[in-house]
Amino acid sequence: MQSTATQPPLKNGTRAQLKTLYRLMGECRLCPRECAINRLHGAQGVCRSGVRPRLASITRHFGEEPPISGTRGSGTVFFSNCNMRCVFCQNFPISQMRVGRDMTAAQLAAGMLRLQKEGAHNVNFVTPTHYAAQAAHAVYLARRKGCSLPVVWNTSGYERPETLRLLEGFVDIYLCDYRYATPALAKRYSRAEDYPALIEPVIEEMLRQVGHFSGGRGVIIRHLVMPGHLEETRIILGRIRQRFGPETTVSFMTQYFPAHKASRFSPINRRLTAEEARAALDMLAASGLENGWAQEDDNLASGGEME
Ligand code: SF4
Repeated sequence: MQSTATQPPLKNGTRAQLKTLYRLMGECRLCPRECAINRLHGAQGVCRSGVRPRLASITRHFGEEPPISGTRGSGTVFFSNCNMRCVFCQNFPISQMRVGRDMTAAQLAAGMLRLQKEGAHNVNFVTPTHYAAQAAHAVYLARRKGCSLPVVWNTSGYERPETLRLLEGFVDIYLCDYRYATPALAKRYSRAEDYPALIEPVIEEMLRQVGHFSGGRGVIIRHLVMPGHLEETRIILGRIRQRFGPETTVSFMTQYFPAHKASRFSPINRRLTAEEARAALDMLAASGLENGWAQEDDNLASGGEME
């Protein structure tokens, strides 16, 4: 980490926060897995990640939600590895087969500056949870060199609020999945039985930091509808409305397809039927949630307010 002695004070995330994030890797409890291994000395936990950030790609991407992709694309940083490791992961070569290469936080910061030069609207950290320290470190370094892009934290939601608190000031947009409401499903598909108990405090911490999505800043909750599990969707939409309010911005996705090991897990070994997709969209319409987008097939089909 570079010295701040001669630098003007940072208005955003601080060096002290970074030090604490790195320290947490010494007995890693960055995420709810709480592996308690020393990543600073080469040990690896469930996410199989070391101290260097490992990246599959840094490039502009146009398939995110409309205010994230904009017209010039979102500057996506695809981190390798994952702390959740879902059986249906569509990015499994990157998330579970270690595709990518190790780099330094300074190299990542240089990539962020390149994205800014190319006109990206933001820097979009995809699956960053297990690299929270390294990602925040890169933001710190890039900002010192003139990077002014908003930072998107694009996460499964399998986070610890304690870790997220240390990201305050580094992140402008939280793009957070709400995957499961039922512990048995979270266990079956992600070995993360505690996900349903943790996800709402996690979103609350995100809202505390950046508020509801407005004017290019805030929280967007993503929900992917799973085949055969529409009841899960109904519960999740109800909980979002009840706990976070009808103004919550929701990105609703019905384009699930069975990837990775999903072929072994009925009923998620198929796409949604047309009836399921229609029923899910009806649930969304009846949910009372006012803001967001419904994403169908491969492209975002509609944007703006959900009315
Ligand atoms: S970030 Fe990785 S090593 Fe750390 S607690 Fe989570 S899964 Fe374990």
